[in-house]
Amino acid sequence: MDFSLTEEQESIVATATAFARDELAPGYRQRETAGVVDRSLVCRMGQLGLIGAELPERFGGLGLDYVTSGLIMEAIARGDFNVAYVQLMGSLNAHIIANNVDPEIAAAWTPGICSGECLVALALTEPDHGSDAAAIELVARREGDQYVLSGEKTSISFADQADAAIVFARTGTVAQRAHGISAFWVPMDVPGISTTRFNDVGEHAIGRGSIFFDEVRVPARHLIAQEGKGFTQVMQGFDYSRALIGLQCLGVAAESLRETWDYIEHRHAFGRPLADFQGLAFPLAEVETYVEAARQLCYKALWLKSVGRPHTKEAAMCKWWAPRVAFETVHQCLLAHGHAGYSRELPFEQRLRDVLGLQIGDGTAEIMKLIIVREKRATR
Ligand SMILES: Cc1cc2nc3c(=O)[nH]c(=O)nc-3n(C[C@H](O)[C@H](O)[C@H](O)COP(=O)(O)OP(=O)(O)OC[C@H]3O[C@@H](n4cnc5c(N)ncnc54)[C@H](O)[C@@H]3O)c2cc1C
Repeated sequence: MDFSLTEEQESIVATATAFARDELAPGYRQRETAGVVDRSLVCRMGQLGLIGAELPERFGGLGLDYVTSGLIMEAIARGDFNVAYVQLMGSLNAHIIANNVDPEIAAAWTPGICSGECLVALALTEPDHGSDAAAIELVARREGDQYVLSGEKTSISFADQADAAIVFARTGTVAQRAHGISAFWVPMDVPGISTTRFNDVGEHAIGRGSIFFDEVRVPARHLIAQEGKGFTQVMQGFDYSRALIGLQCLGVAAESLRETWDYIEHRHAFGRPLADFQGLAFPLAEVETYVEAARQLCYKALWLKSVGRPHTKEAAMCKWWAPRVAFETVHQCLLAHGHAGYSRELPFEQRLRDVLGLQIGDGTAEIMKLIIVREKRATR
């Protein structure tokens, strides 16, 4: 077992770390107030090769491995958790397209994702169907060489910022459940689309909202994979994004810990540095342990993906555990800063609100545990 990084990995991590520290961290709060991720910033990340780096070069990436994309994700999230959604959605969506559409069409859609010029949302959840996604109702009916989409998606990240969306829709019957679902590439500027934005607890720079489809027409070639394969084939990309989500949350936790170890060394009480008091330092040692363990789990899942081995169970573990570890870690770090931690002058309260979202988004802990149980029972 070799945990060391290659020279190439060291180099791209150094680039991502410098970018996160110098260009992302200073604007973390301001981006929340503005409610958007600045596009010039996204394009800069694209120019630096920090979006979808694992994609083959013909699809706009650098042809790196999945572990390296995890390293980039962690480094970017240390500077701004919300901006790291660009890496998350970029990798997930570009991956779905590269694996499931004609290579010529994929080569037209994915380079814009990797360059940062095309922000893509993923629209699965509906007002009446979240965890039970196989029950979705938004309809796509075939008319000649087009599909016509009607219905509502809700709780969609980047709903009002995205340039395109991968939309899951019912092409079969409700009784067919997962086998009646297909996925489509839908540019967000086609007639019949409108969006709203929710008043959320956190992740304001991303924004979450509904997307309404009123007889929206897309060319038949915008079908991703075949009809009826939206769930069974296209959604396999979620195993990848779940490991990335883990690292997105843990990047925030690791940065909070770095700041907190520093703080308790310099702040004094009762004539000594706070770090001398085990009552304060031991809880930090505990969360440091959890963060490290959860990180290894995420990188193991990415390594399994890199070598082509099953990793559904590990990805589900990353997705339920890492966001919770991150939330508890940031909470502990906030408390270690005393009254200062409760102020918006420091980033802890925003980080708490932001990471909380990913205990729900992309599937709740309960659903992840159902997946782990299913996998364990199937491989017993
Ligand atoms: C920050 C954020 C970002 C999101 N981004 C996106 C996005 O970009 N695209 C998208 O499509 N969706 C997105 N979502 C939606 C998200 O995927 C759903 O909210 C999630 O899958 C849960 O669905 P639900 O909210 O309808 O809850 P429900 O399915 O109604 O579940 C409610 C509660 O019941 C529990 N529950 C449900 N079924 C079971 C069961 N069988 N056993 C035990 N407990 C169960 C759930 O775990 C949950 O606690 C986002 C959500 C959030 C919060």
